[in-house]
Amino acid sequence: MKITENLHNLKKSIPENVTLVAVSKTKPTSDILEAYQAGQRIFGENKVQELVEKYKKLPQNIQWHMIGHLQSNKVKYIAAFIHLIHGVESLKLLQEINKQALKNKRTINCLLQLYIAQEETKFGLSEPEFISLISSNEFKALKNIKIVGLMAMASFTDNKTQIQTEFKALKTIFDTYKHQKITNFDLQILSMGMSSDYQIAIECGSTMVRIGSSIFGGR
Ligand SMILES: *Cc1c(COP(=O)(O)O)cnc(C)c1O
Repeated sequence: MKITENLHNLKKSIPENVTLVAVSKTKPTSDILEAYQAGQRIFGENKVQELVEKYKKLPQNIQWHMIGHLQSNKVKYIAAFIHLIHGVESLKLLQEINKQALKNKRTINCLLQLYIAQEETKFGLSEPEFISLISSNEFKALKNIKIVGLMAMASFTDNKTQIQTEFKALKTIFDTYKHQKITNFDLQILSMGMSSDYQIAIECGSTMVRIGSSIFGGR
């Protein structure tokens, strides 16, 4: 019941044009089913093995998002069904996703992860790296992937101003490149914001929030 209640409360604080990804990592399938019964259809996981096990057990109309760091050698396990891969940050990984998508006769939507935090620990591309990736011929040759947006994580801090500055930086990059549409690149989604900072992220222009603990409780 708690999950249903959390989800309803959360939905009230999220505008309709912002997509909610319910981050269910480490949580049992019974928790996911409760959220599913409350109407939630999009779930995010960060470990391939866990994602595959849950995919097999749970209703087929769930849209699964991979939100964690993805290793190239594991793409093959999720390529047949994954709805969106957040957090892609290399050409090598994109090439592998493209290869596995082709094998499955589909196009896989991905978000590129940018580095906006002042912390050293976060993954992601810098803006120059992002530009050089999307400008390369190797990238343009990938017909079975599509970059549909950007993703980032802000610094882990209580400093609201700093988080705002980081999210705004990503929004600026997003706005700069959203008009540039090529076959495999068309920015629609700005994935930023988790339990602790989703309200700030939405103020800064997020269109997709990834929320775990505020729905399912602490991990
Ligand atoms: C775990 C995780 C989240 C959700 O975090 P909460 O604080 O539980 O909302 C969001 N994004 C990524 C990439 C994560 O790994």
